[in-house]
Amino acid sequence: MVGGGKAGKSLAMDLAAAGQRVAMVERGMIGGTCINVACIPTKTLVNSARLLALARRAAQFGIDLPGTPAVDIDLLRARKEDVVGTMVAGQRKSFLASGMDLAIGEAHFVVPRTVEVTDDAGTRRTLSGTNVVVNTGMAPFVPDIPGLRAAQPLTSTSILALKSLPRSIIILGGGYIGCEFASMLSIMGVQVTVVQRRGQLLPREDADMSASVAGTLAADGATLVLGAEAAAVSRAGGLVVRVDEFLRTAADNVWAAGDVAGTPQFTHASWNDYRILKANIAGGSWSTKDRLIPYCVFTTPELGRVGLSETEALHGHESSEVIAVIQMAMLGDVPYQQLRDAVITHPTMAEGLQLLLSDAFLEP
Ligand SMILES: Cc1cc2nc3c(=O)[nH]c(=O)nc-3n(C[C@H](O)[C@H](O)[C@H](O)COP(=O)(O)OP(=O)(O)OC[C@H]3O[C@@H](n4cnc5c(N)ncnc54)[C@H](O)[C@@H]3O)c2cc1C
Repeated sequence: MVGGGKAGKSLAMDLAAAGQRVAMVERGMIGGTCINVACIPTKTLVNSARLLALARRAAQFGIDLPGTPAVDIDLLRARKEDVVGTMVAGQRKSFLASGMDLAIGEAHFVVPRTVEVTDDAGTRRTLSGTNVVVNTGMAPFVPDIPGLRAAQPLTSTSILALKSLPRSIIILGGGYIGCEFASMLSIMGVQVTVVQRRGQLLPREDADMSASVAGTLAADGATLVLGAEAAAVSRAGGLVVRVDEFLRTAADNVWAAGDVAGTPQFTHASWNDYRILKANIAGGSWSTKDRLIPYCVFTTPELGRVGLSETEALHGHESSEVIAVIQMAMLGDVPYQQLRDAVITHPTMAEGLQLLLSDAFLEP
């Protein structure tokens, strides 16, 4: 197991406990991103923010709280570290109890199915496997905006280690991670400005859903700058390992799972990869195709979704007919220009292909 993310550690523990010889290489975050620097610490902070918001309204609930409720950053950080530390310790115990060989160090492939692991002291060891799974996750991405790197911006990871609450903060990117930070920090009294390149927050959501989240953030005091040219800090960066629907890479018996395999970037999606891998390594053919992956944006209040948004559903109207046109073109080796320039009956869904294939929509 190269990297101990959600999929990798779950599979490593299962297989080792079942008596197989398993080595898991982890470069330092026991339990992976989720536990150390993502879902768990952020949701711990979200809970504190919610409690603060509720405490401010205590009188409405008939509770007389003396003084003004406020954040104590040292206690807040200590609680977050306690939650994370307890989970990390529990994971380490479970890893060792499973019987796996836990190799702490940085792995890199030397030949297919063989990695070299270098630990902090520079000691190297080589590990080979009949099967190898890559589950190395992603890292926060700092976009190439002039001057940004020199300004040493915080990322979703480094912000969690702050020793004091900033007076103000600019969040580049209004995706789900940006919105979650904007929500909790605004409630905690930080002056938040969210800069989003697209015209709406959470671009995958319907406009009315996004507007509703924007309204809540604004009500909490955040300033939203939408349609501004900046990239998202919250976007994860790194190379994606190409896999097929069975999570197989191009190399024999080398598999990949989680963020690094292009799986939707959620812990529960990576966990589903683990189940798929477990079946497929044992000879099964469980596919990632058409799986429904729900998700939640932990703003206050939360936004949850599974399946198509209303906009996507409307766009998908009669797509089965339209796709058959593309299929015929592919079967007949028809160049796209011929489809683009054909005279297609109006009003039909298929005529949308002309717009879709026009220069305005195609990548240069
Ligand atoms: C701020 C934030 C909040 C999030 N909140 C949520 C949430 O609420 N709910 C949710 O579902 N998802 C959330 N996510 C996304 C979620 O954290 C990821 O999708 C998930 O952790 C991906 O898991 P993974 O299995 O791909 O691997 P990861 O958990 O990323 O683990 C990869 C592991 O590989 C190790 N590694 C990397 N390279 C090497 C190497 N060369 N050698 C050895 N080890 C290596 C890393 O140290 C790491 O431990 C959040 C993400 C962020 C950034």
